[in-house]
Order: sequence, then C-alpha cells, then structure tokens
Amino acid sequence: MNTNAIFENNKNWIAQKLSKDPEFFTKLAKGQSPEFLYIGCSDSRVTAEEVMGLEPGQVFVHRNIANMVPNTDLSSMSVINYAVNQLKVNHIIVCGHYGCGGILAAMQQADLGILNPWLRSIRDVYRIHKAELNAIVSDEEKYKRLTELNVQEQCINVIKTAEVQKASNERNLRVHGWVFDLESGKLIDLKIDFYTILKGITEIYKIDS
Ligand SMILES: [Zn+2]
Repeated sequence: MNTNAIFENNKNWIAQKLSKDPEFFTKLAKGQSPEFLYIGCSDSRVTAEEVMGLEPGQVFVHRNIANMVPNTDLSSMSVINYAVNQLKVNHIIVCGHYGCGGILAAMQQADLGILNPWLRSIRDVYRIHKAELNAIVSDEEKYKRLTELNVQEQCINVIKTAEVQKASNERNLRVHGWVFDLESGKLIDLKIDFYTILKGITEIYKIDS
C-alpha cells in the first residue's frame, strides 16, 4: 500500500461519516470531552478506538512501547495531567496485550541501545514479581503473566501521580488495567482493585495533602 491509497481511504471515510451524519465534522471541530484516557502499546495490531468500538472524540489516547508510565517520562505525565485536570476524564485505562514485543524484548538478554532504559522499567516489574514469575514453568505463561503484571504496575504508576490522587478525592475517578488478547480479539479486565492500591501506596506515595 502506498500513501496515495491512504488519501483515497480518507476521502471514503469522510463520505461514509457524512452519509451517516451530515454534521459529523461540524460537531467534531467544536471540541472534545472524552470520558476515557487510554494508555496502550504502540503495536499496530492494538488500535485503541477500534477494539473498544469508540468514535472520534470519545477517548484520549496515549501509546508507547509496552504501555509504560515511567514517572520521568514527560510525554505520558503530560497526557495524564491534561486528561485529568482539563478534560476531566473519570476512567484511565492502561491496556497491555499478549504477544507484546516490548515485554518479550525485556525478557531477553540483548543490548538494544536507546531501548535499554525504556525496557528496564519492564525488567523492574519482573524484579518486583520475580518469585511469582520464576515459579511459572512455561515460557509462554510467564510471558503472559509479565504482561499482566506490567499493566498492574503501570496502573500503580498512574495512581502515584498527584493529578490522579487529587481527582480520586474530589470525584469518581478510577484506574483500570486491561489486556487485549490478539488471538481472540477480546479485551480482558484484570480487575485492578483501584481503591485498595490507592490505600496501599498512600504511606509512601501520597502527594495530595
Ligand atoms: Zn506491545
């Protein structure tokens, strides 16, 4: 496929949207008030809006390799700040996926240059949960479990931010951890216990006074 085909696709998409709603782009241009912030992997197979069945305007999206939320990453921190403080989203979703190349790379011994510090955050997740992960015999199952634990730890990183701590006191904001299963197309809710995690990390990570 060349880039000309993409502009052709775009024309068709415009026509399709307008045939359903002649006001579609007029409304779109007026502004956004999405209810969800989605933090997912850059993997081309895991599209945010499409797998969730959402339309333009319904979800604020941040994607990077392996859906990470490192606390010194200006990009993800800015996205969380804007989504929580300005857009007033009440649901923050961290969505990982099985078959994630980032997770797999972090499980292997290789010098990947600029990717090293990024993947090291995933290795940190492994270290925190080493006993559980090392007890899993099957490599495939270990890979899956690290994917889930990484989502859980990134949810915790979201909860560590001042924005999320403040907003969860003031309104009904919650953080969700999901995994997308490429083989079935299913979104799986890891049922992260937001309030218990928030309570559990308060002693060390409380920022909001
Ligand atoms: Zn991935």
